[in-house]
Amino acid sequence: MKTETTIQGLTASLNPARATRKTIGFIPTMGNLHQGHLNLVREARQLCDVVVVSIFVNPTQFGPNEDFDNYPRTLEQDSNLLAEVGCDIVFAPSVEQMYGKYPRLTNISVSEITNDLCGLQRPGHFDGVALVVTKLFNIVQPNFAFFGQKDYQQLAVIKQMVRDLSIPIEVIGVPIARAEDGLALSSRNGYLTEQDRQTAPVIFKALKTAEQNLHSGQVLSDTLGQIRASLTDAGLIVDYVEVRNPMLQKVDQFDQDVVLFVAAKLGKTRLIDNLQVKRPA
Ligand code: AMP
Repeated sequence: MKTETTIQGLTASLNPARATRKTIGFIPTMGNLHQGHLNLVREARQLCDVVVVSIFVNPTQFGPNEDFDNYPRTLEQDSNLLAEVGCDIVFAPSVEQMYGKYPRLTNISVSEITNDLCGLQRPGHFDGVALVVTKLFNIVQPNFAFFGQKDYQQLAVIKQMVRDLSIPIEVIGVPIARAEDGLALSSRNGYLTEQDRQTAPVIFKALKTAEQNLHSGQVLSDTLGQIRASLTDAGLIVDYVEVRNPMLQKVDQFDQDVVLFVAAKLGKTRLIDNLQVKRPA
């Protein structure tokens, strides 16, 4: 496995693959990798000749009071894990390498679906994501790009952007990897105290209960209310509990496939999760 830290170096490493028309699979990450990330790499490994993983904590997607400075940076440990699952190239550029040279005057902004859910609490976040993903797509020029359904809204934004801009890349969504107790794996779980870590699975439990209740005919608004109550009772501060259709449009009845979304703070840590619920046959 190779590690490249410059765009020039990465291009040189990828040129032979490009010249021989090998398929390139790409997984953008911010590092501090866990099994959720590694599942994306495994999926890419199955489908592509060459697998590239980027590790870049992207400043433009963090708000001023968010955790950019403290975000865990564990490149050596990440590299070992990536080598084990068959990654070919790690791209770990500096902020300078990605943004340093010239003033940037171009923004990438996906409308509507970004003014909802996480976009409301994190203004500018999805613009930052869209920008860095566009840059990384142009640098890596993959055939396939893999994103986790854990960040369902992010996946939807990237799919929309790829369609709207005719970016010649196939975006593949990969299911959420969870701990045994149901907590969705996240680099931010490392911020949780031991006690909060014990509490955190309440989110997935509430989502699974909601799924059962919906299938038993519960009214959607009651289901959302119950999720909210379970989280609040467990001591979480709810940011949102929402339901959308798979395209992120609002729904008021369970007459189609839906996605339940939760964002809540446990101590200082903001956790997000979602569950896709199929309409009963
Ligand atoms: P991040 O490093 O948090 O930016 O995540 C990089 C990619 O890994 C994104 O596409 C995430 O959606 C995905 N990812 C993170 N956690 C999980 C998880 N628990 N299951 C599946 N994908 C995940």
